[in-house]
Amino acid sequence: MSNFPRFPSLPKELRLRIWTYCLPHRFVELDHPVPDHIFSSALPCTHFTDTTFINSRPPLITQVCREARQVGLETGAPLEDIFQPGRPDEASFCSGTSIQAPWLDRTKDAVHMNWSGALEPLYGSDGDMISSLAWDAKYCTGVASLRVEFFDDNYHEAGSVDVPAALPEELKSLVDKPLSARLAKQIQNFLSLPMWLVVMDTVVVHSSRQAAAERGLFGLLGDATVQVIDVAKQEVLHGYYDAAGLAERLQVPQGVPSDGHKFESIAKIREDLEYVLMNGYGCQEQLRHMQPAVMFRLCTRDCNTIAHANQQSLSR
Ligand SMILES: [Zn+2]
Repeated sequence: MSNFPRFPSLPKELRLRIWTYCLPHRFVELDHPVPDHIFSSALPCTHFTDTTFINSRPPLITQVCREARQVGLETGAPLEDIFQPGRPDEASFCSGTSIQAPWLDRTKDAVHMNWSGALEPLYGSDGDMISSLAWDAKYCTGVASLRVEFFDDNYHEAGSVDVPAALPEELKSLVDKPLSARLAKQIQNFLSLPMWLVVMDTVVVHSSRQAAAERGLFGLLGDATVQVIDVAKQEVLHGYYDAAGLAERLQVPQGVPSDGHKFESIAKIREDLEYVLMNGYGCQEQLRHMQPAVMFRLCTRDCNTIAHANQQSLSR
């Protein structure tokens, strides 16, 4: 260990590689999550927005030294400063929950939006969310995610058309037309990316930043506080649930052989997504481009105790 050179004495090329390695891989939220719309029961975290704030700031290494800052600035910038030539008007979206200029690294980050139509009456919005999100995803790593509640709108709209089953085909297509134009555009955008992650569940992991960094679940330095994990990555998923103290969610029910049944609930999650998409769009075309996922959020505050205490005092 005594022969280990001081960091500044390492060759510059090696130092830059180490700094680059320390950059977080984030799911950058482009709008604020609204906890009341995410959790139907008691909120598991009293500092929910802290997670969003840290995740939208420049990476930690940009505060270490000039050299590290330069590495962070090479591929990252506040989103509104990024010049995106040719961005069409239709690929813009803003709402009362939009985040102003979140930090985005075009080589490392994916983009996420929490928006759903249920927020419209309170916060309002303007533009086409899916076109906008697809554009931002193509600008960075090509990965986008959204909440499953986004599709509720389509479901309700489809339901309100109320086409009688006995209606002749030509009339069905007339009734369906205004609906299909909007949804067809969405499907076109969904097909323009290889994969969209659809957040089916949100879990808060309470842990110190150091402990989180040691586990490597939220970036090497614990500054990638929002992660969206594809349910197909079962072992990875298990690691996050374990860190949240919720490993039992993915455990084998007692008496069931573990082979092939270890993540039984995952199959259910996939079925739920297929059901939502089929009801909303009435076709399977975009299913191949959709993957159910779980969002994990790191909170470094001691909310478990507070939330638990609040819950207890409320139940008295
Ligand atoms: Zn918390």
